[in-house]
Amino acid sequence: MTTHVIGAGLAGLAAALAVRGPVVVHEAAASAGGRARALPDGTDNGTHALLGANRAALDFLRGIGALEHWVEPEPEGLPVLDLADGRARRIALSPLGWARAANRPDGLTPRALLALARLAGPGDRAVGPALSAHPAFLRGFVEPLVIAALNTPVGEASSRRLAAVLRRVGAPGAARLLVARRGLGPDLVEPALAAIRARGGAVRHGARLRSLGIEGGRLSALDFGEEVVALAPRDRAVLALPPWEAARLLPDLRAPAEHAPILNLHFTHATPGPVRFLGLLGGLCQWVLVRPGTVAVTVSAADAEAREATPDLAPRAWGEIRALAAAFGLPGEWPEEPPPCRAVKERRATPRHRPGDPPPPPVLALPNLALAGDWMEPVLPATLDAAVRSGRRAARALER
Ligand SMILES: Cc1cc2nc3c(=O)[nH]c(=O)nc-3n(C[C@H](O)[C@H](O)[C@H](O)COP(=O)(O)OP(=O)(O)OC[C@H]3O[C@@H](n4cnc5c(N)ncnc54)[C@H](O)[C@@H]3O)c2cc1C
Repeated sequence: MTTHVIGAGLAGLAAALAVRGPVVVHEAAASAGGRARALPDGTDNGTHALLGANRAALDFLRGIGALEHWVEPEPEGLPVLDLADGRARRIALSPLGWARAANRPDGLTPRALLALARLAGPGDRAVGPALSAHPAFLRGFVEPLVIAALNTPVGEASSRRLAAVLRRVGAPGAARLLVARRGLGPDLVEPALAAIRARGGAVRHGARLRSLGIEGGRLSALDFGEEVVALAPRDRAVLALPPWEAARLLPDLRAPAEHAPILNLHFTHATPGPVRFLGLLGGLCQWVLVRPGTVAVTVSAADAEAREATPDLAPRAWGEIRALAAAFGLPGEWPEEPPPCRAVKERRATPRHRPGDPPPPPVLALPNLALAGDWMEPVLPATLDAAVRSGRRAARALER
């Protein structure tokens, strides 16, 4: 009884480690990791942060022996520079941290909190209009959180998905923010592949699934073009693919069709460290990850920015980074001239999470074919955590 996992993103890697018996992972690309991967030169495609609330993702890291490589760069609260007025301070992500007035977001009034709490009630609305009476709180806290967690502009983002995030970050330790100390390759993808191989699994690269063979209501074959894998009666498969690929292979599938881009700018810059993770309000950059040797900027929900050219983006971003470095006293030199910059534009980074999105399809597409992927998560936004949860859920569904 072999399980074939199609796609070596986080959902596929999690499924491969959760199924019983022999497993083969088939990945179209030359490397694993999907939307959370190391580029050929080792640079992350984009900064990935996890929260303490992402229990499935953290459990996955623990299981592959990589949790110790994820560090909490800002245990005292997130350093945020507001470019509108030059204020630099630490903002707590969790309501538990708001007991200290200095760590409270702007505009945090009882009425603003009540309006936020109402979003957790029944129904699903766009977040921005629902909080328009509280512009300071919206700008200083809700919008950055929505953009980071849902990768959807706040004016169109789903209150139901945001409420699911808020419910989870309220618990003690749940708002801790973690990043990979070295990068997604050594701290996520490589340990996951090693764990799959250690349990006897195989990973095939350059294996793009072209079509599915279905006979008698069951999956019977996987067509990879030059090779067709015939399934034995007890064999099964997990399709751990992005929604557009899953929908191509299963045309009647209900899958998200609209996505939002994430732009990352990677500056090659010698900094002594330590790892830092800082935020900006009112500029191009939203988050800045400083690691020894690199400074990476994240712009989520980057519909407009992803259309701009790197030579236009880099000087703007670098000017903001210098202001951030000055405001928080980051060690090292921060010269006026921008260092070499590489832009990575992930145009379909995640689905757009809007009110009233239809629920994902059932996990079992056929009795021996399960679906996984970040977009299969019914409640939470599409993230690493959602991908891991979906992979494990697919494995459980096949074991029943
Ligand atoms: C720039 C960026 C920043 C992000 N930041 C964060 C963050 O900070 N925190 C967070 O939690 N999440 C973040 N995310 C989201 C996170 O990366 C995704 O939710 C997650 O990686 C999705 O995993 P997946 O396995 O569902 O899909 P994918 O990663 O897309 O994996 C699918 C795999 O299937 C392969 N494939 C596709 N078609 C075929 C085929 N026909 N045959 C075989 N293989 C195929 C692909 O090559 C890929 O490897 C970010 C995403 C991006 C792009």
